[in-house]
Amino acid sequence: MIIVSGCLADIKCRYDGEAKPCEKVIRLVAEGKAIPVCPEQLGGLTTPRKPGEIKGDKVMRKDGVDITEEFKRGAQEALKIAKQVRARTAILKARSPSCSCGKIYDGSFSGTLIDGNGVFAELCKKNGIEVKTEDEV
Ligand code: SF4
Repeated sequence: MIIVSGCLADIKCRYDGEAKPCEKVIRLVAEGKAIPVCPEQLGGLTTPRKPGEIKGDKVMRKDGVDITEEFKRGAQEALKIAKQVRARTAILKARSPSCSCGKIYDGSFSGTLIDGNGVFAELCKKNGIEVKTEDEV
């Protein structure tokens, strides 16, 4: 089984209340090969919500509110689902502070990308789940 970001499966779970549908991911879910999760919603954040970016070891909103705990909780809950379905692979949304693998925004809300992983993507990797972005599938 594959774990996929909910927004890639056309679920409107993004901070702006929209989805980022990816045809390949939608097909995997339709074929029963993939399960969509949204770590930020699982962490108790609302939709829509103000976006956050990773800054050091925290996740901060632009207005200075610390949302690290919600991100951590959501990552743990999403990992629980991944383990329940014995997922070996995850296809997760690029450039998200939860889901991205390889590149994240730098915490300045200026659109600057740096090397790094989102909170959920990092947790997946630590638990032996291979993570790819939708750009790599
Ligand atoms: Fe999509 Fe992941 Fe952000 Fe949820 S947390 S909206 S699944 S990128």
